[in-house]
Amino acid sequence: MSVRNVLVAGAGIAGSTLAYWLARYGIDTTVVERAAEQRSSGSPVDVRGPALPVVEQMNLLTPLREAATLARSLTAVNSSGGRIGWIPSQTSANAVEIPRSSLAGILARAASAHAEVVHGDSVLTLHDDGQGVEVTFERSAPRRFDLVVGADGLHSRVRRLAFGLESQFLTHLGLHIATMPLQQAAADRTVLLHNAPGRAVAVHPTVGSEVAAFVFRAPPRSNTRGQDMEQNKQLVIDAYSGMGWRVPELLDRVRHSGDLYCDSVSRARLDSWSRGRIVLVGDAANCVSLLGEGSSTAIAGAATLAHELGTHADEPAAALRRYEHAHRKRVGRAQRGVALASRMLVPATRAGTAVRDVPFRMWPVLASMRGIERPPG
Ligand SMILES: Cc1cc2nc3c(=O)[nH]c(=O)nc-3n(C[C@H](O)[C@H](O)[C@H](O)COP(=O)(O)OP(=O)(O)OC[C@H]3O[C@@H](n4cnc5c(N)ncnc54)[C@H](O)[C@@H]3O)c2cc1C
Repeated sequence: MSVRNVLVAGAGIAGSTLAYWLARYGIDTTVVERAAEQRSSGSPVDVRGPALPVVEQMNLLTPLREAATLARSLTAVNSSGGRIGWIPSQTSANAVEIPRSSLAGILARAASAHAEVVHGDSVLTLHDDGQGVEVTFERSAPRRFDLVVGADGLHSRVRRLAFGLESQFLTHLGLHIATMPLQQAAADRTVLLHNAPGRAVAVHPTVGSEVAAFVFRAPPRSNTRGQDMEQNKQLVIDAYSGMGWRVPELLDRVRHSGDLYCDSVSRARLDSWSRGRIVLVGDAANCVSLLGEGSSTAIAGAATLAHELGTHADEPAAALRRYEHAHRKRVGRAQRGVALASRMLVPATRAGTAVRDVPFRMWPVLASMRGIERPPG
């Protein structure tokens, strides 16, 4: 009944963290990742709270800090580029803000040093016979594992195969997010944020380049799986046409982008994260997308799951219960923050934006009274 070999579906934030730790606990680990290569898109995310000791124990704190973003403040701009005001963005020294793609790359390299990683493939069917799971793949030959972990993100295929259709578990929170790297040197050390009712666009300075993020209110779509790049591009172009500031130039880049990430901002909730010998981690289990909180939650959840499996490999059912008990408390807190974050980031009306802008106008006044005249950084 014990767990000696594990399949992890998805080499994202959760999957790579999990694979690294499972392998360190001496469990034979295989990762299967659908993408042929590392994706370059994704807005910056924070590594903070319970995720920090995890990456520290992986000896990754230094590379994460070296790849950290340059931004120390958030500046609101109007449609002609005039600065409305700014607020400090990095209030805690106990957090590392890093582009999602850099974080994913650093974790993936750490995982591949210890685990087998197969790119360009995906699970096709799963059959759990109580003693293990027979797995077929789109490309590779069938294999048997003691345990299968779905770390395959918001639209998890493992979850669909083992738990049911995603419509039972996902709640669309009224927003979509699209991000892309701009491949041009960052001119500012502040995040620039421009709003129109129901739409926000931010340009974020990262090491050596900028990342653009579009967050906008839109109803759910049946095809928000981020798989049809051309439809995603059109969705963003339609939502932002007519906006000022740098938006026309950014939309032109959307048209020609080779890696636009676009998905609905959704919450995933399941009564249980495991069925027999199949278990979920990260967004597949408990998505809290938007503002990057999901990455720290995913890292912490993956480390907890690996620890429980590593220390209770002979009692997998108990290990999975203990993982869920410990991690659910963190998830509840993170999921509650999303509604407030979305109201602050994407006010639905002009009046709402004016109210939201009050701290942006006030902070420079307070800062200059304390002798700080410009956004730090
Ligand atoms: C390219 C990209 C950009 C992102 N950008 C943002 C962003 O800007 N803002 C935001 O809030 N969140 C973003 N996210 C989501 C964010 O990374 C997660 O919310 C969070 O980090 C939790 O991580 P996760 O590992 O659970 O999921 P993810 O980071 O989404 O990783 C899931 C992994 O599973 C892989 N996968 C999916 N389906 C299959 C399959 N059938 N078989 C095998 N592998 C599969 C994916 O390619 C991906 O590598 C992005 C995700 C990706 C993949």
